[in-house]
Amino acid sequence: MEERLQKVLASAGVASRREAEKYILAGRVKVNGKIVKELGTKVGEKAFILVDGKPIKREKKAYYLFYKPRGVVTTMTDPQGRRTVADFAKDLPERVFPVGRLDYNTEGLLLLTNDGDLAQKLTHPKHEVNKTYRVTVPGLVPQDKLDLLRIGVKLEDGMTAPAIVTLIGYDNEKSNTTFDIVIHEGRNRQVRRMCDFIGFPVRQLKRIKLGNLTLQGLKRGGYRILNEDEINALI
Ligand code: URA
Repeated sequence: MEERLQKVLASAGVASRREAEKYILAGRVKVNGKIVKELGTKVGEKAFILVDGKPIKREKKAYYLFYKPRGVVTTMTDPQGRRTVADFAKDLPERVFPVGRLDYNTEGLLLLTNDGDLAQKLTHPKHEVNKTYRVTVPGLVPQDKLDLLRIGVKLEDGMTAPAIVTLIGYDNEKSNTTFDIVIHEGRNRQVRRMCDFIGFPVRQLKRIKLGNLTLQGLKRGGYRILNEDEINALI
C-alpha cells in the first residue's frame, strides 16, 4: 500500500507530519536515490528513504487475525494482572494492537495491527464492517423475540440498527438456544445488552466472522497473517 511521504516520515518517528513537510520542501529527503520536494508524493512499502543522507527505520505494516480465547482482556496491559492480548502478541515482530474490542468473556475473531489509519477506519460507524456472533442463551427463545433483535431494540444509547438473525437450534440436554446475529455497529457490550433486552441473557458469545473473515484454520489463542486482498476487502 502506498502512503504519502510526510506520513511515512512521521510514522517512522522522524518528525511530526507538519515538520516532515518542511524537510521535504527543503530538499532533505531522498526516495530511491532522488530528492523529492513534492508534498503529495506517495511511496510504496519498499521505497528506500533517506533524510539528511540517513536511512529511516520503517516498521512494516502488519495485520493478523487472532482467535481471542475467553478470559483474555482486549488491551495490551491490565492493572488487575489478567491475561491480555499482549501475552499472545509478544512473539510477533511488530508492535501491534487490537482493533475494536471483545469482552473478557467473549471469544473469537480480533484484528491485530500496527496500522493506526486502518484501525480508525474500521472502528468508524460509517464503515459498517459486518460482525457475526454466535450466541447461546438459556431456554427456548420464541420467534417474536428473535424478530425484535432483527428489527432493532431500544438500548440506553439508542435503537440498534436492523440485524440479521439466524436460528441455529435448541439444545434439549442443555436447554440452550443458539443463534447467529450479524451487526455492523460496535457499541460496548452490544450483543449482551440486546439479549438482556429480550430477556435472554447471554451464556456464551463468540465472534465467528469479521467481514468475510472466518475462524477457519485458527486455534484458540492462535493467529494468522492477513494478506493484502483480505485487508482491502475489510475497508
Ligand atoms: N457484543 C458484546 O456484547 N460483547 C462483545 O464482546 C462483542 C459484541
